[in-house]
Parts: sequence; C-alpha cells; structure tokens
Amino acid sequence: STFQELGLNNDLLQAITDLGFTEPSEVQAKAIPILLGSEGDLVALAQTGTGKTAAFGFPMLEKIDVDSRTTQGLILSPTRELCLQIANEMKLYGKYCKGLNVVAVYGGSSITDQARDIKRGAQIIVATPGRMKDMISRRMVDISKIQYAVLDEADEMLNMGFKEDITDILSHTPTDKSTWLFSATMPREVAAIAKNFMHNPQEITV
Ligand code: AMP
Repeated sequence: STFQELGLNNDLLQAITDLGFTEPSEVQAKAIPILLGSEGDLVALAQTGTGKTAAFGFPMLEKIDVDSRTTQGLILSPTRELCLQIANEMKLYGKYCKGLNVVAVYGGSSITDQARDIKRGAQIIVATPGRMKDMISRRMVDISKIQYAVLDEADEMLNMGFKEDITDILSHTPTDKSTWLFSATMPREVAAIAKNFMHNPQEITV
C-alpha cells in the first residue's frame, strides 16, 4: 500500500515525502487505517524500530485541531530519551501542520519551563509518567479535554514501576477518549491495563 491509499492528508504526505519514506511499514499499514477509520481503542504488539511512532503519530496529527490550543493528544513513554525522540519525530511529521505545538515533558529538566511551554498552547504532549503526574498535581497542565492517549512501550513503563502514575494520569482524562496502547510484549500486567482502561480494543500484531 501507499501512504496516500491509507488516507493521510496532504500536509502529512508532503512531510513523508521530505523524510524519504517510500511505503508504510507493516505496523503503519495495519494501524493507520484503523485509527483514521474510527474512534476507539487499539492494542498493538510491536517492537521498537518498526515505525510505530508514525503508526500512532500520523493518525494523531491527522485528527487533532491545530487551530485550537487545547491539549488533545497525550503520549506517555517510559524514558526522557524516548520522550524527546517521539516529540522530535512528531514535529518532523507535523512540519506542515501550521500552528502545531508539540511539547515534551520529562524529569530532570525545569518543570516551570515545561509548564510555560504547555501554557502557550500544546495540542500534543509527550511525557514520562512521573513528570506528568507531578504537573497534574501542581495544576500545571490540563488533560481533561484530551481525545487521544497513547501508551507507548507499555510493558517497559510497567517494568519501571509506572503503573500507579499511569492510572492516576488516565483518571484525569475523559472516559470517551481513544486509547492506543503499543507494547513489545503482552505480560499479564499490560493485559490488565488494556482490560481496565480500554473498551473493546482492536488488536494488531506485527
Ligand atoms: P520507530 O519504530 O517509530 O522508532 O521508527 C524507527 C525508524 O524508522 C525511525 O527513524 C523512523 O523515522 C523510521 N521510519 C518510520 N516509518 C518509516 C517508513 N515508512 N519508511 C522508512 N522509514 C521509516
């Protein structure tokens, strides 16, 4: 298949051309039509390096309203390095989405600077769970209007002990949002998150 056939808009197709991506990877070919085609939840078993960032990133960029400054998408990821990597990829993918603001928040860096960046109007926040929870409790961020939540590397986040933080964060989001969970493995703990926080998720494996 081609990216055009997957139904992505011209702003995204132009960025994809610039990046030199010639065809969708397997996880992209499977996830993008599902995520563009309907609202609802997704569980994707996919390793890193498979192109999974774009698999959730393209649909999120397609669906958010860049004319609004409200935070609409939240991506949780286990480490600072991954947060920065995902945020950078989202900025590249969204380079022609005029008005797009993607903000990365993670520990070990100034929380007030991050809060200021969010206040300027971030449609998408990429966060580590600990820092996100901290910012919520300090009322530095409002995620009560998010429509799309991504749990990236869910197995890693649970291995690192973020289960309670994730639970706390999700409790501050609307119940009718779409949740997209990506994980390399599906241990019991990840299956439990899917069961407790997701509604009839579609499932894909690559
Ligand atoms: P990820 O699994 O999201 O970390 O992506 C791994 C690498 O593959 C990143 O450097 C992406 O920029 C790149 N990539 C993602 N999708 C494609 C694609 N369809 N064609 C070529 N490279 C891609």
